[in-house]
Amino acid sequence: SKFIFITGGVVSGIGKGISGASIGRMLKDRGISVFMQKFDPYLNIDPGTMSPYQHGEVFVTKDGAETDLDLGHYERFINEELTQRSNITTGKVYNDVIKKERRGDYNGKTVQVIPHITDEIKKAVYKAAEESQADIVITEIGGTVGDIESLPFLEAIRQIHAENEKEDVLFIHTTLVPTIPGSNELKTKPTQHSYKELMSLGIKTNVIILRSEGIVTDELKEKISLFCDVPVEAIIQSFNVDFIYEVPLKFQEQNLDKYIMRKMKLKSKVEEDGKW
Ligand code: ADP
Repeated sequence: SKFIFITGGVVSGIGKGISGASIGRMLKDRGISVFMQKFDPYLNIDPGTMSPYQHGEVFVTKDGAETDLDLGHYERFINEELTQRSNITTGKVYNDVIKKERRGDYNGKTVQVIPHITDEIKKAVYKAAEESQADIVITEIGGTVGDIESLPFLEAIRQIHAENEKEDVLFIHTTLVPTIPGSNELKTKPTQHSYKELMSLGIKTNVIILRSEGIVTDELKEKISLFCDVPVEAIIQSFNVDFIYEVPLKFQEQNLDKYIMRKMKLKSKVEEDGKW
């Protein structure tokens, strides 16, 4: 399997889940099999105990796991049934590690965030790949880069990048390009900052997805490209759409699917360009 990791910067709720699901859809259209999972940085073991007023309704997988509602987006976009492997929370990871510690599985070692928590996170990614036998596992890291809570997840995906071939791991970072009220000027600085924050954790993103109210001009893309060391063709805009199922089409118009295929050395398994 190959791995795509989606991180988010600047603010939450900018469409990481929709972006991940859209990428899954585009790859499936090229005949590539896809499995999706989401890492959530909270300490609840699953969202089943959280108020739906705060977090939305849970999504229940076929094997009975109560999961984040993003999994519903994933299933509807990629048309695959997901499992309990698709939603891993910090609470679940810690619970599993502490159970092992009580059983004596660590054989007298000091149990630590690195490597024990990070190993458990990496196992969740590799297990998903093994069980699903998918060509690509897409993993969304919940939360925003810079949060204390998501650090072990980011460290784990950094390690996955280090232990695999370069073309087998792709990082995608979604950020917000805000507009200054009044002048309507679009600002790229928050994107530059969150790129740097990720870099300081050892993760160099390959693709940047921008959410903004206005059109991100070529000039702005060139600026982001210069500061963030990502080619202009890998800077993609997630336009505001009325209907979220348009997002993969918008990505396709910007050739994001072709870029990912080339970068990850994937071969299309369908004759013509992905049809809808
Ligand atoms: P995140 O995973 O970053 O928290 P989600 O993917 O859950 O964000 O998206 C948050 C909300 O924004 C959802 O209600 C989704 O429908 C909406 N959304 C995401 N992308 C777009 C877009 N390109 N245009 C309009 N709405 C979007």
